[in-house]
Amino acid sequence: MKIQEAEARSLMAALLSGELPDSEGRFGPFGGRFAPETLMPALFRLERQARQFFADEDACRALDEERREWVGRPTPLTRARGLERAWGAQVWIKREDLAHTGAHKINNALGQAHLARRLGAAQVVAETGAGQHGVAAAAACARVGLPCAVYMGALDMERQAPNVQRMRQLGAEVVAVDKGDRTLRAATDEAFRAWVADPHGVYYLLGSAVGPHPYPWLVRELQKIIGEEARQQFAQSAGGLPDAVFACVGGGSNAIGLFHAFLGDESARIFGIEAGGKGPGAGQNAASLCAGKPGVLHGSYSMLLYDDDGQVLETSSISAGLDYPGVGPEHALLQAVGRAAYLAASDEQALEALAECCRLEGILPALEPAHALFAARAWARENPGKRILIGLSGRGDKDMPTLTQTLS
Ligand SMILES: *Cc1c(COP(=O)(O)O)cnc(C)c1O
Repeated sequence: MKIQEAEARSLMAALLSGELPDSEGRFGPFGGRFAPETLMPALFRLERQARQFFADEDACRALDEERREWVGRPTPLTRARGLERAWGAQVWIKREDLAHTGAHKINNALGQAHLARRLGAAQVVAETGAGQHGVAAAAACARVGLPCAVYMGALDMERQAPNVQRMRQLGAEVVAVDKGDRTLRAATDEAFRAWVADPHGVYYLLGSAVGPHPYPWLVRELQKIIGEEARQQFAQSAGGLPDAVFACVGGGSNAIGLFHAFLGDESARIFGIEAGGKGPGAGQNAASLCAGKPGVLHGSYSMLLYDDDGQVLETSSISAGLDYPGVGPEHALLQAVGRAAYLAASDEQALEALAECCRLEGILPALEPAHALFAARAWARENPGKRILIGLSGRGDKDMPTLTQTLS
C-alpha cells in the first residue's frame, strides 16, 4: 500500500508527536483492535494501566534499575572494524545479543512482567514458536515472582527441545498444543483462549509488536530503549547520526525498537529486512511487507501473506524468529508513507552474512539479524564510505543445530 505525499507527511507528524496510534489503536490505516467482545474490557484496561505505568516515575525507576542490574543495559555499541574493511563503509552494531537471555526479547518480557504484577494478575501466559520469547517470559516472570505458562505447538516442542528444558528450568509450565498446525499459530490460539477464559486473573504477555491495540504500541514503548541508547552511543562514537539503519523484521519488535529514535532524523535512511526464505514464490518466504497485502491477523490490520481465497500462507525461513506471516502495523505505516524501506534477504544470503560476521568480528549472530547484515553489506557496496548502524538482535548459539546441518 502507498499513501499520497501530503497525507504521508501529516501521518508522520502525528506518529512523531505521539498522536499515533490513535484512540482506536490505529497507525493511519493500520493496526486497530480486532478482538472478541469478551476481551475488549481487558484490552482497554491494559492500555489504561500501561499509560499509568509509563507516567509513574517510581515504576519507571524500578524498571530502569532492573534493566541495568538484571538485563545488562545499556548494551554496547560496537565498531565493526573487520566488516568495515570488507565492506568499504563505517559500521557500528548494537549488541542486543549481549542482553540477558541472549536477545532483545527480554526488554519486552521484563517490562510486561512488571505490568502484569501491577495489574494484580495471578498468572502470566505467553505463546512461543522457537522458544526464544518463552525463555524470556519464563525468566522475567521468575524475576518478578509470577507463575508463567508458555503455550507451544507440539511440533515446535520436538524441534526446540533445549528451549523447552530452559523454560522448565526457569520455573515455567510449558503447555503442549497438539492441535491445528501444532506450531506457533495453534499455540497463539490456545494462549488467547486461556486469556479469554479469565481476562482478570491472566496476563497475556505478547512477544512482538503485533496483535490488537495496545500491544504494538506497548511493545514498541518497551523496545525503544534500543534505539535511544544506540542514537546516543552513536553520537558519542561517531559524532553524528548514521546514514543508514538496518534491522531484521519478524513481527517487528527489535526493528521498531531500534528505528523509533531515528524516525525524526531525515538524514538517516531506515531499512527493515524480512525473511526472503527460499525465494519469492508463495509459501517460500516470510516477507509480509515485501510480498504481502493488507489484511487482518491476530487482532490487527497490517501487511499479511495470504492467497486469493484469503487463506493465510505457509511461511518458510531458516530463522524461526522471522517465520511469521504477519508484521506489526507500525511497520506497515512506515512502509506506506515511505519513511522506511523493506527488503528481503534469502536463507542462503543470511547464512553467508552470518559466516562473515563470525570470521571478521568474532561474533556469532543469530540467523535473524544475519538477514540485516546481508542487506547492510549490499547497501554499503553501492554507497561507499557511509556510516551504517545495524541492530544485532540476538546471539546465534541457539542456531547451532541449523548451522551444523548446513555446514556438513
Ligand atoms: C524473535 C527474534 C527476532 C524476531 O522478532 P521481532 O519481533 O521481529 O524482533 C529477531 N531476532 C532475534 C534474535 C529473535 O529472537
